[in-house]
Amino acid sequence: MYPSIYRAMRLFWPGGLETRRHLNELEYTQRLSREELRAFQLARLRGLVKHAYERVPFYRERYRREGIHPDDIQSLEDFHALPFVNKEDIRANLDSMIAQGFPKADLVPNHTGGSTGEPLHFFVGRSFWWWNAANEFRMRRWHGIREGERTAWIWGDQRDMPDWSWRRRLRARIMNQRFLNAFSLTRPKMEAFADMLVLWQPRLIIGYSTALFLFAQFLKGEGIDSIRPRLVEATAEKLWKPQRDLIEEVFHCPVVNHYSSREMGTMAYECEQGALHALDDVRYMEVISDGEAAKPGELGEVVVTSFNHLAMPFIRYKNDDVAIRSDERCACGRGLSVIREIVGRSNDYLVTSEGQFVHSEFFAYLLRARPEVFSYQVYQPDKRHLNIKIVCRQRVDPTWLDDVRRAIRSRFGDPMHISVELVNDIELTPAGKHRYIISEVRPDFV
Ligand SMILES: [Zn+2]
Repeated sequence: MYPSIYRAMRLFWPGGLETRRHLNELEYTQRLSREELRAFQLARLRGLVKHAYERVPFYRERYRREGIHPDDIQSLEDFHALPFVNKEDIRANLDSMIAQGFPKADLVPNHTGGSTGEPLHFFVGRSFWWWNAANEFRMRRWHGIREGERTAWIWGDQRDMPDWSWRRRLRARIMNQRFLNAFSLTRPKMEAFADMLVLWQPRLIIGYSTALFLFAQFLKGEGIDSIRPRLVEATAEKLWKPQRDLIEEVFHCPVVNHYSSREMGTMAYECEQGALHALDDVRYMEVISDGEAAKPGELGEVVVTSFNHLAMPFIRYKNDDVAIRSDERCACGRGLSVIREIVGRSNDYLVTSEGQFVHSEFFAYLLRARPEVFSYQVYQPDKRHLNIKIVCRQRVDPTWLDDVRRAIRSRFGDPMHISVELVNDIELTPAGKHRYIISEVRPDFV
């Protein structure tokens, strides 16, 4: 009953009608065939490039300098010739990236959480939020979840938390949301939240992968298995297989991956068939290796162009993530393309003393497989040093540590200085995320 009242109320909110209109559009575009979608994307990209050329000083200057005119973009291949934009470009040209006709006072300043270093500041127009809300409503509908249904969040970012003003608290009540702070997942807080959820029975639970995993571990330990949402959505961090398995076991429902970021909003979401779909009707996502489109199955950097950031366009933006595309068609029947894996951030890689890159998964296999290990963090300051911190559940003897050290050495080579340290806990990033790998060394393929 409440969700239908909520949906009716929402129409009268600022942007409510627009959000509903966008939602209807997305329900339609996600059913387009691959070919129709490509034509749709080309039309959107051409319009966007024209807009950027005419109204955004940064793009106009850059395209002119490279001899590019919007009329040159006749195909997706032509679009692929446009230069990339990276975080440094945005930091250095923030003001000249804002489109003329979009007064700064009307825009919403925002920034990334800075989990990989310096936060990135940027601006978005209000219409972006309406698009993003529509997008989120659309993809949760894939799993039978409607707007306004009970949602529990395990979250850490203060900007999304309702506890700092009565307005935010009221809004959370109206939106049927309850929050557990992922910053302080203490036993008493998890206990209170679990008790509340048993009575309240959310339809959807959203959280950081690690926070969801910790909460699921707690529930399992306490023998609580009567919280039965329809779906759990893991976001902001990579979801590992053992995490997914435990969360599914505890909540008796599927767990889906939500790939999004502060600056881009949602980019990909898992459907009911388990395929991670790029949301091709709102973003144009490329996976690039050595400047060219990576083949399906091949690792590359994520390059995104957003169709609905008009106030400050992101055109061929390198967001520092690494992904693998797939050419499979999903049984769900949507034309949206499939991503095999969001592998992580490009600095989730480590480099051996010979310059070969080692994916962070190496440490996942090495350390997560050991029952003694609760958590870990690997820090590589340069090509010669590797510092590993490990939090253990129980006491381990020196031979255990030697064994870990030996396994790391065999992968990274003798010249590497390797330190392995047992610690009591590992600090979270300012956004409340756990970082398993922090590397200051860029691998060669980037
Ligand atoms: Zn699908």
